[in-house]
Amino acid sequence: MLSKQFQCRDCGGLAGYRSRRRSFIEKYLLPVLLLRPVRCGDCFRRSYRPLFVPVRERNESDVTNQAAA
Ligand SMILES: [Zn+2]
Repeated sequence: MLSKQFQCRDCGGLAGYRSRRRSFIEKYLLPVLLLRPVRCGDCFRRSYRPLFVPVRERNESDVTNQAAA
């Protein structure tokens, strides 16, 4: 079932975060399919969601790591 809102299939959490595109498939194939990788904020499971599903920007912890480098 396609939902307009993110919900984790694993834990049912509603907090989805944008995830980095790690592989060739995620960089080039997912956009063609109008999908993107999304990480659950509760159990950190990654899944692919349609581009129109609203998700949050990445955690501040990720940004902090980059800024410290
Ligand atoms: Zn989850």
